[in-house]
Amino acid sequence: MNLLEQQLHYPLGDVLPEPGTTLEVAPGVRWIRMSLPFALNHINLWLLRDEMDGPDGPVQGWTIVDCCISRDESKAQWEAIFATQLQGLPILRVIVTHMHPDHIGLAHWLCERWQAPLWISATDYNVARLSTQSTTGFGGESAARFFASHGLTDPDSIEKIRARTNYYPSLVPDVPRSFHRLMDGYTVRIGGRDWTCISGYGHAPEHIALHCAELNILIGGDMMLPRISTNVSVYDVEPESNALTQFLDSIDKFSALDADTLTLPSHGKPFKGLHKRIEQLHDHHRDRLAEVMEACQRKPCHAADILPIMFKRPLDLHQTTFAMGEAVAHLHALWYGGQLRRTLDGDGIYRFSAV
Ligand SMILES: [Zn+2]
Repeated sequence: MNLLEQQLHYPLGDVLPEPGTTLEVAPGVRWIRMSLPFALNHINLWLLRDEMDGPDGPVQGWTIVDCCISRDESKAQWEAIFATQLQGLPILRVIVTHMHPDHIGLAHWLCERWQAPLWISATDYNVARLSTQSTTGFGGESAARFFASHGLTDPDSIEKIRARTNYYPSLVPDVPRSFHRLMDGYTVRIGGRDWTCISGYGHAPEHIALHCAELNILIGGDMMLPRISTNVSVYDVEPESNALTQFLDSIDKFSALDADTLTLPSHGKPFKGLHKRIEQLHDHHRDRLAEVMEACQRKPCHAADILPIMFKRPLDLHQTTFAMGEAVAHLHALWYGGQLRRTLDGDGIYRFSAV
């Protein structure tokens, strides 16, 4: 446990649900944990006891929140859960917090397997659908050009980014052909309880967290993680975005929730201390912004110049692309905030200097 985590409280201690099983965290709310073949090696998914109207009266069953990436191991884990954890009831609906592969990858398979509808924000649905059909998205020529314009000029890295054209579809082969729209402020009735949608920006196009006042629970998705800070990046598809400011504004919306809220994050363990965590994330980014500002006061910097300042450990290529996106997000926050000015120099690279 790191120092910041010690200021939070993990009510379940170190208990984790075993693969293929679930762990009840509140009445009708069950925790599933699946492994991921990445540096971030697991994801949390949720199973909510539900009831929906059918042609012959109410139908009992379950709602799934988030799906894991598409691969045989994850499907096998789902099958084990279906066989032993559902009390013989069906899956009635699949909710997806946002379009990243670990959250939406198996939505198509789950919805088809149970003839269940997908519920997601319209923005993330459409971006996911385009990304499964696109040859680029998360790589390819335009990503390579974007990173180069921010100072990543090493030919070997650029070549590898250019070659990575099938990343998203390999983890999300398809998405369902229709969806139910989730939007900020909408209420979803799940198992006789109201869950309110809270939109979040800066991590995904339109992330939806779900809050149940009756249970005092927040399904935070990737917008509220206890141990790591959420990835907040600028990408080639929206090269001028102010992602960090959007993210910080978004997490402030959680301040309105009860201080004692149990937050269910997509990575890490369920925790209490929501207000503390919001404060920690603001502190974290304020420190990073100060470092970036200081570097740009010494000399005009591009994003690649900023990497060793923001990330004090060696990065592989995959981490470098994430880190570049984060560096641009910090530069843009200061640029939009009026503290940095941006120039496009003769070498085609954006540099930022103190105003
Ligand atoms: Zn995500």
